[in-house]
Amino acid sequence: MPSPGRGLLEPGERVLLIDPKERRYLIRLEAGGRFQTHSGILEHDDVIGGPAGVEVQARQPGGPEGAGRWFLVLRPTLADLVVKMPRGAQVIYPKDLGAILMAADLFPGARVLEAGVGSGALSMAALRAGCEVVGYELREDFAATARANVAALLGPEAAYRVEERDVYEGIDLTDLDRILLDLPEPWRVLPHAEKALEPGGILLAYLPTINQTAELRAGLEHGAFSGAETIEVLQRSWHIEGRSVRPDHRMVAHTGFLTTARRVLRRAR
Ligand code: SAH
Repeated sequence: MPSPGRGLLEPGERVLLIDPKERRYLIRLEAGGRFQTHSGILEHDDVIGGPAGVEVQARQPGGPEGAGRWFLVLRPTLADLVVKMPRGAQVIYPKDLGAILMAADLFPGARVLEAGVGSGALSMAALRAGCEVVGYELREDFAATARANVAALLGPEAAYRVEERDVYEGIDLTDLDRILLDLPEPWRVLPHAEKALEPGGILLAYLPTINQTAELRAGLEHGAFSGAETIEVLQRSWHIEGRSVRPDHRMVAHTGFLTTARRVLRRAR
């Protein structure tokens, strides 16, 4: 069951439990369910029907009354789900998903083709932005994982369809507003994207290496595209504790490059 996102917690919803050591557990609430840790047992029924954003105490079997640890109960954010959900393929990280929303200008009602869909992280971000998404995915098992991840977030009624097929062989859709690509050779999609995208539509490709990015950029030079741009997103978190205020020692230094371009119709002159 997808989370209503607000209001009291319901059975079937996923919640994030955070223990006093900041360890995070994603669980699905079930009537009568129990979450067992060495910090005690948390009864799902102590959480169901209550608010999110509050602490709930676990019970310590055999221990004195009130001895169990307190867990903070939160509704997971989309970023929490993306890093915790079941995945076959590598997912696009939240920092890049955020940038993709803007770079590809994903808007409510946009007709989007996404290939390949992998675990469905980008699908989830696009659907949450209100897009109608068709996914092309080579692998049956990944397509199934993506469908399940999307259904868990948004329910079975989401504007989402995944077809098991190779996007390099063609696109059977027209009048698309956006094409989102996360696969190894996106330049092979350009001849099909040209026909499937509306004039003014945006193509976005996520690529892990700059060699691939250069090859895509070369392809965009020859095609019916304009205004190609490539960016990477560096996100550095900070350690802020008392007088110790500095960047964290570690960061995710590299994930991928984002390249965008717009489909245009040029007039013969
Ligand atoms: N963006 C996804 C991850 C995609 S991983 C996420 O955020 O979860 C890349 C996916 O592309 C893999 O699942 C792979 O099977 C698929 N793929 C690779 N080549 C493809 C092709 N030619 N057509 C369709 N899917 C393809």
